[in-house]
Amino acid sequence: MSGYAGKILRVNLTKKEITAIPTKKYEHWVGGHGMGSAIFFDLVKDKTIDGFNPANVVTLMTSPLSGTLVPAASGRTEVQGIGVQSYPIGWFTRSNFGGRFSSMLKYAGWDGVVIEGKASRPVWIDIRNDDVKIRECASLSLWGKDTWECQEIIWDYVAGEGKYGDWIKQNNSEARTTQRPAVVAIGPAGENLSRVACLIHDASSAAGQGGFGAVWGSKNLKAISVIGTGGIKIHDPQGLMAARLWQKKNYAFDLENLIERWGFQHQAPPAPIALWRGGRPKIGQRPQACLGCHSACRARYDDALGNEASCFASVFYWDAKSLDIQRTASDLINKYGLNAVEMCFGLLYIYLLNQNGVLKSSNIPKCPLDFSNYGSEEFVERFVKMVSYGDDGNGNKSQFGKDISGGFVWAAEKWGRREQDLNNGMLSFPYWGLPIHKEPRAQVYWGYATLLGDRDINEHDFDWLKHDAKIAARWGRKTMATAEEAVKIVTDKMVPYQGDMLMMDFSEKNIYSEHMAKLVSWHRYYTRFWKQSMLFCDVRWPDFLNLYAPGKIGSTGIAEPKFLKAVTGKDFSFLDGINLGRKIWNLDHAIWTLQGRHRDMVHFADIIYKRKASWDVDGKAYMPGIENGKWDYHYYARRTLDRNKFDEFKTRFYQLQGWDEASGWPKKKTLDSLGLSYVASELEANGRLGKG
Ligand code: SF4
Repeated sequence: MSGYAGKILRVNLTKKEITAIPTKKYEHWVGGHGMGSAIFFDLVKDKTIDGFNPANVVTLMTSPLSGTLVPAASGRTEVQGIGVQSYPIGWFTRSNFGGRFSSMLKYAGWDGVVIEGKASRPVWIDIRNDDVKIRECASLSLWGKDTWECQEIIWDYVAGEGKYGDWIKQNNSEARTTQRPAVVAIGPAGENLSRVACLIHDASSAAGQGGFGAVWGSKNLKAISVIGTGGIKIHDPQGLMAARLWQKKNYAFDLENLIERWGFQHQAPPAPIALWRGGRPKIGQRPQACLGCHSACRARYDDALGNEASCFASVFYWDAKSLDIQRTASDLINKYGLNAVEMCFGLLYIYLLNQNGVLKSSNIPKCPLDFSNYGSEEFVERFVKMVSYGDDGNGNKSQFGKDISGGFVWAAEKWGRREQDLNNGMLSFPYWGLPIHKEPRAQVYWGYATLLGDRDINEHDFDWLKHDAKIAARWGRKTMATAEEAVKIVTDKMVPYQGDMLMMDFSEKNIYSEHMAKLVSWHRYYTRFWKQSMLFCDVRWPDFLNLYAPGKIGSTGIAEPKFLKAVTGKDFSFLDGINLGRKIWNLDHAIWTLQGRHRDMVHFADIIYKRKASWDVDGKAYMPGIENGKWDYHYYARRTLDRNKFDEFKTRFYQLQGWDEASGWPKKKTLDSLGLSYVASELEANGRLGKG
């Protein structure tokens, strides 16, 4: 089994039992998300439980590529289980973090970790190769510590207090490493069961969405630490090295010939942060990469403020009075273990309630925040503590703090304001109680996929099109390619729908069409397999349009299976991956169906149908579209979605999936054709199998 460690660690916290699942049993899912969903399906008998139930199972999975030389695919870990963030149902969901945890897990001899049950007292899991222990937090006083303190204490405990680079021996054997353990931990927010809580690894690698911090807190699980001294068997080491060099030479940035683009991570291809620096201190930074990645999109700073933070984590306090306060705020949410996007839009909600004079209304408990110092460090620290501890941020009881700690949409519901504030635009959480990220009226594929799935997709596969056109329009520059060229390059790679350029036509007449249904479907399948199961990083992959590549045609479609073959020896084509992605998507959808999903629930908050976007979430959403018979980039945000036409879109989408149009539930013949007959049986037994 080249590429695999061969076993998956299974830890039952209730029974204090440590066992192993042979990876072979799940190898047909190849890795990552697919394996995680399949294990969850097998182990959780009642899928209707909520995320806080001890019977909830959380998986942390690697891929065969983890810990290898595959660029931007070696260091990410996929996390799954029933989440507690979404509303009204905490869907079976996923999150993902970078760094070096998955690699270290493989070096320790494990392809994943499965966590079951609930410990009677706070514990952490200590993995040193095959030696795995469930240890009580009390002896190291870990419970109550922030995520950084917790990691440092565990590093010292496992590796001693030697300096970086010292050899560390494991368990009195000759096996040794210079690495510190990779630790993923929860902070006070998770311990206090805040639905906004996440998992943090190193400085700022976060499994942000889903509320997994609170799920771990409910299991009394503070951290997992892993250190490994082994390696990974590679099927064709020479081929792997050649593939990496081929990718580097033809598709990575070239320092000698740097093509300057806009200052954002998702460039084509991405360049190290030190080369673009937008919104960062001008001096004292160096690039930082997840293990094995040459893109190095993170940074560390001389003054150690805001280390490794990226995307929302680096800007969550966007009204900070200074860049240093913003960077300090970023550190705070990492230390307390909070989801940056929810904190960002949660803070905006409270701010708008105050601005509009309703924060003091009778059905909202007294808010301890002093808005006269909004933008200051004191303000944000208090806000972060309120959400983390569910109090007034100073250690005193506060119903308001308790309510927002339980999630902002849940708080609005308690205050009798959820519908009203979703519709007046103060509560920017337009689907499943989740914060907006991209404008769903313009980048419709993002909104549709979030609504048809379980979480804000946070998949930037087509997002660069918007950013490129936006920057070009703003600064009077040329786009990387004309809209028609870009759409052709992208859609030519989208097997089995390749050549259908209308998939990327975002004009009003096309956004409810079968072409758009194909785009959403392809995107679900590609990401479910190549990104979330093989763990190709979202910042770097897919490689569609690439300014360094011949004809600007990136390596996606060729590169992914080339790397997989070199590592595992599997003859597995790009299309095989898309097909397996479809199977995984169907399995996930079946789990949501068992949890209570029905077609009638799948709708946006009314505001999306009734009001044009009044502001742009992350800049003007210019998208490709055909107007008057010609392709170009157009600014599509100032429109509403049509409720009836969106309903027709759902019908087209369900037809394409082979699901029951009336209920949205999977049909037996579809599941049978995908090798998921056992899933169909469970749906049938629960009265939730689609007709036909
Ligand atoms: S592109 Fe950035 S987030 Fe992705 S693997 Fe590389 S360093 Fe990590």
